[in-house]
Amino acid sequence: MKNIEEFKNSIEKDKKALTYLELKQKYLGKEGVLTKALKEILSVEKDKRAFYGKEINLLKNELENIINKKKNEEKSKYSTGEKIDPTAPFDINSNSNEFDNILAQEGSKHPLTKEIEKLLDIFTSMGFDILESRQIDDDYHMFQSLNFPKGHPARDMYDTFRTEDGLVLPAHTSTMQNRALKKFGPPPIAVVLPGRCFRNEATDAGHDHTFHQIEGVYVDKNVSLANMIATIKTYLEKYLETDFDVKIQPAYFPFTEPDCEFVISCPFCKKVGCSTCGHSGWIEIMGCGMIHPNVLREADIDPDIYTGFAWGFGVDRLTMIKLGIEDIRYLRENNLNFLKQF
Ligand SMILES: [Zn+2]
Repeated sequence: MKNIEEFKNSIEKDKKALTYLELKQKYLGKEGVLTKALKEILSVEKDKRAFYGKEINLLKNELENIINKKKNEEKSKYSTGEKIDPTAPFDINSNSNEFDNILAQEGSKHPLTKEIEKLLDIFTSMGFDILESRQIDDDYHMFQSLNFPKGHPARDMYDTFRTEDGLVLPAHTSTMQNRALKKFGPPPIAVVLPGRCFRNEATDAGHDHTFHQIEGVYVDKNVSLANMIATIKTYLEKYLETDFDVKIQPAYFPFTEPDCEFVISCPFCKKVGCSTCGHSGWIEIMGCGMIHPNVLREADIDPDIYTGFAWGFGVDRLTMIKLGIEDIRYLRENNLNFLKQF
């Protein structure tokens, strides 16, 4: 379309029907009608070029005036109490031109949200209930109900943040164990507890002050360590979409007995050694163990009749392994260039 009259007619028609943002995008945006028309000036016959360029520029000026007028009109509409959509993802009253582009974009789920949903789907398919953890809790649930009496030295391993009135930002999703055992008891109990956790520590590529865990709790008659290993191996293989060998290493947690570290052969290098596994061929993936009798007793479950296992793994760490993310802090920086990759 290189006919000036056609441009004029089309602007005349649109100036009433479109909003100022739509007008701006249609005519003056990167792919706008007038922007393109100016770019095509070399295809106009030589003796008509000067006239054509001048006319297009006049139209541009005229349109800019129309757009500014419309913009002021639309803004005053919003400030005179006319209904607006407060859930719109940008401030329509802002002067920034950046918002023009946002109009055309759709948001998406955060990679961590997507991975948590995949994991919860796997647990649901295996028969586990889901109970979300909390982001602020008391000393009883975070420590005492988990066999950490006041003054227990193992409390130091869970250095987190506290409010002035003594509440705790949970350092692990185990803070929900007592509630879950009571809510879903008497056994059989099979529940996973996803949630956000906090640690008071310096951040680096592998550690952040905020992260996500999914805790698992399984209690019934005759539950053994073998059941625990098989359960964890099954869901990890489903999630990582590969098989691997398993090693169980000793660990220490006051709320399990025995306490284990669940270690898998590196799914990337098959034990040869690579950067993901720190060249050891193995990855320590989570802490787990048989639930301590004191923890069962605290939730009114008789440890002479029932046994159970629990695990807690970091979702961020697992997501990093699966998606090949090198720095845990990327997951919380909200850098769109990073997030758009997933
Ligand atoms: Zn490896």
